[in-house]
Amino acid sequence: LRICRVQPDVPALDKAFDYSIPDALAPAVRVGTIVRVSLHGRRVRGWVIALDVAASGDPSKLLPIAKVVGSGPPAELIDLATWASWRWAGPVVSFLRAASPPNAVRDLAPPASLATGSPAVRVLAWPPAADRRELVAQRIAPRGSTLIVSADGARFGSLLRHLEREGHRVLVIRADCSAADKTRAWSRAREGNCVVLGGRSAVWTPVPDLAAVIVLDEGDEALQEESAPTWNGRDVAAERARRNGAELTLVGVVPSLEAEALGGRAERPDRSTERHGWPGVEVVDLREAPPGRGLLTDELARAVRRSVDAGERAVCMLNRKGRARLLVCAACGSPATCERCGAAVAEDEERRLACAHCGMTRPPVCVSCHGARFKALRPGVRKLRDGLAAMFPKVEVAHVDAEVGEVPEALVLVGTEAVLHRVQGPIGLVAFLDLDQELLAPRYRASEQALALVARGARRTGTNGRLLLQTRLPEHAVVQTALRADPSILPELERRQRRELGYPPFGGLAELVGVAPAVDAAVEQLRASGIDVLGPAPRGERLQALARSDDLPTLLDALADAGPPARALGRLRIAVDPPRV
Ligand SMILES: [Zn+2]
Ligand SMILES: [Zn+2]
Repeated sequence: LRICRVQPDVPALDKAFDYSIPDALAPAVRVGTIVRVSLHGRRVRGWVIALDVAASGDPSKLLPIAKVVGSGPPAELIDLATWASWRWAGPVVSFLRAASPPNAVRDLAPPASLATGSPAVRVLAWPPAADRRELVAQRIAPRGSTLIVSADGARFGSLLRHLEREGHRVLVIRADCSAADKTRAWSRAREGNCVVLGGRSAVWTPVPDLAAVIVLDEGDEALQEESAPTWNGRDVAAERARRNGAELTLVGVVPSLEAEALGGRAERPDRSTERHGWPGVEVVDLREAPPGRGLLTDELARAVRRSVDAGERAVCMLNRKGRARLLVCAACGSPATCERCGAAVAEDEERRLACAHCGMTRPPVCVSCHGARFKALRPGVRKLRDGLAAMFPKVEVAHVDAEVGEVPEALVLVGTEAVLHRVQGPIGLVAFLDLDQELLAPRYRASEQALALVARGARRTGTNGRLLLQTRLPEHAVVQTALRADPSILPELERRQRRELGYPPFGGLAELVGVAPAVDAAVEQLRASGIDVLGPAPRGERLQALARSDDLPTLLDALADAGPPARALGRLRIAVDPPRV
């Protein structure tokens, strides 16, 4: 009697069970095969995750597999899913789903895996608006398959055409493909010898002959899953490349510290490529703007006018979600920031400046001019569209946010960062009306995220367009990176701050949010394993805690122990490497 272990497609359960294999089904059952089984009286889908296992009880009492549905992930991706479930402290089912075709695939004979690549990791800094088609083409493996993962689906089209002209067989896997198209691509990928182009889910494509992996925009938040488990496409790609001995190339405008930890300091192109890979960048120092004008500066008016006169679209960006009141020095206009982590600070009851992010406090003295008086800025965002409309009475000025269905045809658009994702067609100017809201956000990845946003703007305008950055921190590393087209500035700052705080990649970090009994139980167990925990503190109806350790595996092992019993007590979301903490 053959016995196999089946992982039912029930994330809340996250446990595997043994079943017997009826003789009639035996030829079709392999590791990865998708089957139907009975579980507590219900018929559920599941994956065969191991064959010929030793039964824990009486084998004749095991239920048989009810049905073979079709092919599933190859054995190596089952192993990768198991690793990912540890790496992001989530159910393995989430990853098995990502690695499976949406519809049934009946051809049941996948080719054997072939190792074809040479293991190596390269980290490359590449300016945002520079053409990267050649860069990608050069890194495609001569034999075997290559996975290309990119956060920016808007540029798949031109890359696809380029690679096809070069004679590659390219499969595109996008989130918005139909289930039938995704299934077809999944099935064809199993034949190997192809190039797969897609978003983060492309890392789970079942090519049998992986030889190279290229991750573009490697630090972009879009490569990380928002809901738990918060897995990152770059990190899964890196692990898969390592296991397959495939060459890994990580490309970013400013490669992240995580990329650096995987492959060392970034290589850079020549200065001319760097310089020409950015649009024209203009920095407006808001400290010098005449009082009463707010964010509607003369420089902004000139830049919008220039764009409109050329018949090109101008996009003015302002993030309104979670906008904080900013304290600025009454004498010199510099914002009050934390010396330790760079976030905005606020006055506490004892009239000291306190950082809500890292907890540091200091006397209320301006670090730039030693002034001791501060004023609170009220951004007045509602009047912004009207103010712009008044500046340009003959031009249509429209407002775009997540609620606006269709992006209007207007030449001037005002909106949140969603605009950059949604506007089709060329853009002449991207203006960040108040970049400090991004630079000073109380999050450890604030600088990285601000730069990613600026880079996205740069990609949208292209090298012939313009970027306008309005800030009270013109010397900030993010602003200087864009202005000088120099990818070495930001990592210096990031390394110092993250090391000081023990944040990734210099330590492990996880956020726990859930109902009180579950969070309390998890926190108690984590503390017993020697993990630092901040909290729990109330967040709305729930509790929130932050767990940190000096190295990531220690934290992950502790979470693997603490997670399941705590989850049995109620809802608990664990976000490893939380992007917005
Ligand atoms: Zn000052
Ligand atoms: Zn701080």
